[in-house]
Amino acid sequence: MLVSLPVMSLYVASLNSGSNGNCYYVGNGNDAVLVDAGLSCRETERRMAKLKLSMKTVSAIFISHEHGDHIKGVNVLSKKYNLPVYFTENTFRFSRLSVEKSLVRTFTAEERISVNGLDITAFAKHHDARDPHSFTIEGNDVTIGVYTDIGNVCDNLTMHFKRCHAAFLEANYDASMLESGRYPIHLKQRIRGGKGHLSNDEALELFRTHKPGHMSHIFLSHLSKDNNNPDLVARMFNEHAGDTQVIIASRYNETGVYHIQHPSARKGNTTTNPYGAQASLFGH
Ligand SMILES: [Zn+2]
Ligand SMILES: [Zn+2]
Repeated sequence: MLVSLPVMSLYVASLNSGSNGNCYYVGNGNDAVLVDAGLSCRETERRMAKLKLSMKTVSAIFISHEHGDHIKGVNVLSKKYNLPVYFTENTFRFSRLSVEKSLVRTFTAEERISVNGLDITAFAKHHDARDPHSFTIEGNDVTIGVYTDIGNVCDNLTMHFKRCHAAFLEANYDASMLESGRYPIHLKQRIRGGKGHLSNDEALELFRTHKPGHMSHIFLSHLSKDNNNPDLVARMFNEHAGDTQVIIASRYNETGVYHIQHPSARKGNTTTNPYGAQASLFGH
């Protein structure tokens, strides 16, 4: 069903975020892409349905790296919905996924890939996977970042982050909780080493220093179950957020669907909501 499109805006949601599964939705009202598919097909469908999002609007899946929490649902989703899946060649090889050959697409860093009105650009990141990449998605003059599983903040990440109207940004662990926690030392070192995950402090430093004035939403993502506290990290960010809304992308539930607008479209805008009258669309 075609509905009147809101101009200069995109819709985003996290279906789940964390070491138990990652899946992020970015759509323009008619078409969408999923970044990572780390929930089962059935759970992806269930959460999409709860958000009144149709799998039929999804045009492609983009895979950041081959860890299980990012690829668990890929084989079944791709087959069931005939969805192309974008990987780097190395990520595809190391993922051992069995995506139908005709549905495998490859990308390289900085290549701009257009899928039904959405432009997706990947860039390399520091993480202990074979060939890990982050994604920036643009459409309708709005820019969305999906930045999780990052060992440290590199110039590339900073450059992309500065352009975003909304970003899913990893805030994986509180340094003192990790230090005093029950993890064995090798695992602690893996997490906080340069190829593991971003700490709350590292994510906050990026946010404080480089948050652009036009960023309306920050989704704190991939929080550790054992080494983080959602209230704590939300408080840390809220102290520096100004007009930017801070949302936790949970490891237990989907977020709402958020309507991300270009600043010039925000004031007095009463655009048609293509997904039905759902309060969560406008942030909660
Ligand atoms: Zn992960
Ligand atoms: Zn990972």
